[in-house]
Amino acid sequence: MKLEFFGAAAEVTGSCHVLHVGKYKVLLDCGLIQGSRKDEERNRDPFPFDASKIDAVVLSHAHLDHCGRLPLMVKRGFRGPVYAQEASCELVAILLADAAHLAERDAEYRSRKTGKKVKPLYTVAEGEHVIRQMQPRKYREVFEVVPGVKVRFRDAGHILGSCSVEVWLSENNTERKIVFSGDLGQYNTPILKDPEPVDQADLVLMESTYGGRRHRDREQTIAELGDILTSDRSRQGNILIPAFAIGRSQEILYQLGKHYEEWGLERFQIFLDSPMAIEASKIYWENTQLYDAEATRLRLEHGGMPLLPNLKLSRHPEESMAINRIRSGAIVIAGSGMCNGGRITHHLKHNLDREETQVLITGYQANGSLGRRLVNGQETVRIHGQTIPVRATIHTLGGLSAHGDQDDLARWYECMENRPPVYLVHGEIEAQEDFSKYLAGRCGTEVHLPKPGDILEL
Ligand SMILES: [Zn+2]
Ligand SMILES: [Zn+2]
Repeated sequence: MKLEFFGAAAEVTGSCHVLHVGKYKVLLDCGLIQGSRKDEERNRDPFPFDASKIDAVVLSHAHLDHCGRLPLMVKRGFRGPVYAQEASCELVAILLADAAHLAERDAEYRSRKTGKKVKPLYTVAEGEHVIRQMQPRKYREVFEVVPGVKVRFRDAGHILGSCSVEVWLSENNTERKIVFSGDLGQYNTPILKDPEPVDQADLVLMESTYGGRRHRDREQTIAELGDILTSDRSRQGNILIPAFAIGRSQEILYQLGKHYEEWGLERFQIFLDSPMAIEASKIYWENTQLYDAEATRLRLEHGGMPLLPNLKLSRHPEESMAINRIRSGAIVIAGSGMCNGGRITHHLKHNLDREETQVLITGYQANGSLGRRLVNGQETVRIHGQTIPVRATIHTLGGLSAHGDQDDLARWYECMENRPPVYLVHGEIEAQEDFSKYLAGRCGTEVHLPKPGDILEL
């Protein structure tokens, strides 16, 4: 039995690991490499294995850095099942359809620009093929993936349907249990349950995105949000919230609903201006069995989801354009999360030059993104070829991460009483080194930092 590390070893995106048991090969995740254009070009490289020889894929959750190369697997001959938690399967369908659509549009654009035919990374048809191969499973159900490999999904509290994966392997009378953390959420995240404890393992494959830091307090961040929304200022202009379609958009809507009366939100028009976020929100609103106690209580008190009576869902482009005629009293949640494209760029173009406007940055903004330029306080920005002066106030709200910090990660690990050795994945090298020291100091754990291509005999 072997475990091979490929993607998200010593980096954050492109999660992908291969288990070899007997004659079978099982992939854990098959994520997209994300970042600069140059990084993303690596998605076109051949896999370091033959896709047609993989027997099954086990998927931790719906984020593209975990599932976004699945259509490429299909393109290269993979026809096996893709196992994922039920709500995850629904979210994957939306995300892959969108990713494939963007890939096709990007290829068309590059073909026009270069005068050469550029092929898309994958097509909408290949994305749809993956959806047909998906096999939904419930949390806590033990199921066989291939002979010699059994799996159980545990709630990872990161986004809806996210899982830590317990894997039991057996070959020639040898048995091993490995646990793959997936991406772990913070404890006390709204809507979702806390990361579920796993009691024992021979080896742990663990994410380490924020292994090197402590998050700002979420309650404090929510209080800041309340201060902004109740200030006199908020009555004079519009409030723009760039947000990722899955996770962050739903959390913001939830917080607005929870504090609706306290913050006097009836005086606003609140827009969710993103077809993808609307689809994802519906999946969040329907899968109420996955809610934590507070979300369950609020849902019953409000007679259902969403909690906001004045939420407007704008699907069509005309509805989105109509928002640009509103001069005050609108709260607009739109993508993309880093303002690199999507409808938020239009709203920014129409509002950034007005002093009354406030922009709330609630998520990570990568270097080079428009969102990062706003956070850095640039006086002008370029949007759709125009130079726009930034007179709006830009607020950065830091405490809403979907990833656990150092303490959360260690707390999840400590549920495994036998203190198994840990292999850190899904993190920048500095974060991994910090977390490695922290975990070794706190629990006496043996921690390894695998590199891409490393093979571990189990
Ligand atoms: Zn994730
Ligand atoms: Zn991830």
